[in-house]
Amino acid sequence: MKGGAISRRNLPRRFPWLTAATGLILAAATVAATLGARAAVTNQEEALLDDRANEVKAFLETALNGVVSNLSAVGGALRAGGIEGSGFDEVAVPLVTQEVFDYVALVDVRPDPPVVVRAEGSGVDEGEALSAGQAEAARSAQAQLTSTDVIDVEGQQRLGLAVGAPLVPEGFAVYAENEIVPISEQPREPGSPFAEVEVALYAGASADRGNLIIATVEPPLEGRQADVTVEFGAEEWLMEVVAREPLAGGLTERMPWLVAGLGALVTLATVALIEAVQRRRDYALALVEERTQELEAAVVRLEHARLELEEADRLKDEFLDLAAHELRTPIAAIAGFAEVLTSGNGPDPETRARLVGRIWANAREMEELTNQLLDLSRLRAGRVEIKPEALALRGAVEECLERVGAALEDRPVSVEVPADLAALADASAFRRILTNLLTNAAKFSDPGTPVSVTAGVEGDDVRVAVTDQGIGIAPEEQALIFERFYRADSGSHATRGSGVGLAIVGQYVALHGGRIGVDSTPGSGSTFWFTLPMAREEATVS
Ligand code: ADP
Repeated sequence: MKGGAISRRNLPRRFPWLTAATGLILAAATVAATLGARAAVTNQEEALLDDRANEVKAFLETALNGVVSNLSAVGGALRAGGIEGSGFDEVAVPLVTQEVFDYVALVDVRPDPPVVVRAEGSGVDEGEALSAGQAEAARSAQAQLTSTDVIDVEGQQRLGLAVGAPLVPEGFAVYAENEIVPISEQPREPGSPFAEVEVALYAGASADRGNLIIATVEPPLEGRQADVTVEFGAEEWLMEVVAREPLAGGLTERMPWLVAGLGALVTLATVALIEAVQRRRDYALALVEERTQELEAAVVRLEHARLELEEADRLKDEFLDLAAHELRTPIAAIAGFAEVLTSGNGPDPETRARLVGRIWANAREMEELTNQLLDLSRLRAGRVEIKPEALALRGAVEECLERVGAALEDRPVSVEVPADLAALADASAFRRILTNLLTNAAKFSDPGTPVSVTAGVEGDDVRVAVTDQGIGIAPEEQALIFERFYRADSGSHATRGSGVGLAIVGQYVALHGGRIGVDSTPGSGSTFWFTLPMAREEATVS
């Protein structure tokens, strides 16, 4: 396995939308949860505020009703003891001394304006007529049992309270007055209904500054507000209540932000997790892909090797057939000649000499084939070493022509090799190359047709060519004939051979770093050529 490292940057992203979609869903869920938490906190806050407002309302109603019952008590004493009786003083004096009222008065509402009949406390005198506001309060009480009015007395706001008949004798009203201190500190200690809230109470149904009776801070009140109706006798007063601090508590108040923060954290963590998992997954997939490709390549290589083995096997069979055939022919010939030589008295001396010559020729042919096979086997195994040196080509070519000798006997051979041309080549290898090509030229051409050997310079190389006018080679076979054991269709029937010669030639040329090729036209002849490095120094005459 090569290269275990996978570049993360090049990885395919299979689900790029997954992270974004999850992020969006979680973000939306966070927003929804935050809004939900906000609504819940708001609801709770409103409910708590309503609770507190109702506590204040109950407290105030109790206090106000206490006032009414105090005034009713005065009325009761009057009803029991008569207008002139001592009951009035007995009930009214403690109310004034205990500062429940600034003063308490018995008012005759029949004259206009009503007249004070009896009075206790400061601010009014017996026999005095009521002012217009006071008269209004006293008369309203006649009509509706109790009445309250904010009254302006010499620029000062005062609260006038009255009860009428039947709580008091017919034609009279008990009237009391108190100073109003609209903005007043209320007790804040725990347990007080004012402990957590600011309150504004109006003696009327609307938040009219002129009717303000009690306010714990200067109106208007700020913040979330509960409006409550406080019932006082037959009247309905408006009370506004706001919380000074969040009633639900700081932690509850911050809950929406906690939810939002937590949601954001979960979103980020999830997105990061998905991203990490995706990356790992993509990495693993890429790894699998890479390994798969490697395996596929290995399978292809194995298949290739198998085909090569098959081919080698086929070649081996072919070679065995060929070798058996090529060896059997000369062996059969030798055996035949030997039999003639040894039969009876034997042939005459002339025939004997001819037969022995034939035996020799066949033995040499076998020897030559054996040598060729050994040569090829050593070349392919890389066991052949060459010693290139400056080789004078003309001499080397002539030596090869001599060696081939008899085979080319009846063909006119021309040599065109410059006298000073030298190749950097191993002399024995050169011999093997050229004798093979010359032998082939002889084998595949008719007697009498010319054969030529030429050599020249080609770039940094020398190019040697052997041309015949023989049977030629079909174009589709020209590349194949350099393979081992390959014999072209055209030549194989006409001549004997092993298909080894050109393979050996090719190997030797390659050992020199040269190239080999053939130009051929079937029926007209062939030119086999090869290149070798050119020798620059003085050539040694071979
Ligand atoms: P062999 O000559 O023993 O068959 P070679 O390897 O030398 O083996 O040649 C392979 C084949 O190439 C020959 O069988 C023949 O078909 C073809 N060939 C080689 N040289 C020539 C040539 N000069 N003219 C035509 N065909 C040739």
